[in-house]
Amino acid sequence: MYDLNRLFQSIFPNRCLLCDQICDPGTATGVNFCNHCQQTLPYLRRACPTCAAVLESTAKCGYCLSHRIYFESSVSVFKFAEPVSSYIYRFKYHHQFYLGKILSLELFAAISELNAPLPDLIVPVPLHGKRLRQRGFNQSAVIARHLSKKLNIPCKNDYLARRKFSKPQIELTARERKAAVKNAFILNHNRRYNHIALVDDVVTTTHTVNQAAKALKLGGTQHVCVWSLARNT
Ligand SMILES: [Zn+2]
Ligand SMILES: [Zn+2]
Repeated sequence: MYDLNRLFQSIFPNRCLLCDQICDPGTATGVNFCNHCQQTLPYLRRACPTCAAVLESTAKCGYCLSHRIYFESSVSVFKFAEPVSSYIYRFKYHHQFYLGKILSLELFAAISELNAPLPDLIVPVPLHGKRLRQRGFNQSAVIARHLSKKLNIPCKNDYLARRKFSKPQIELTARERKAAVKNAFILNHNRRYNHIALVDDVVTTTHTVNQAAKALKLGGTQHVCVWSLARNT
């Protein structure tokens, strides 16, 4: 009797999603990297459970213990380091959407592994309208859409709106960043959701997601979790 699986593999060998080398079929979540690529990826192994700050332990970090945090938990897959930082750059600024999809699948795998209660709604961190017109798309909305499909949870791109326009975060000092996002978000919808996942591509300081979570909490949401591809600390 034919081993159909083996036959299929010989016709369509499994290839690493990042470098296209032939490699063994991957995990149940369908994410496939060759051993080499897998080893070069800077997975975030230990982090603060609230904000995903990179730590040596898995206890709450000092920042979360001493500040008002409006979200309850975070899932971040990678440290913001090479090669993931380059992949995100290419996804965001060179429209290499396949990289956004591959990284989103890794985030989906990390969320599934946690086995935690899932949200009722997925909301990407919005860009200001002017920034959206400049860039042409919201990278967080692309990630949110992949997660929405995989998890079968609705996603609303316009649930939150950004009312403040600021220079790119990279051009601002830490203090300017904080001021730029303070009360920057407003709720666009009347419908309330109990549990919302906020999606961002990279969480650098937590100011942005914290202000977005604050707007959700003021709107009546009980529980906010933050899902991001990478955490930069
Ligand atoms: Zn590879
Ligand atoms: Zn923390």
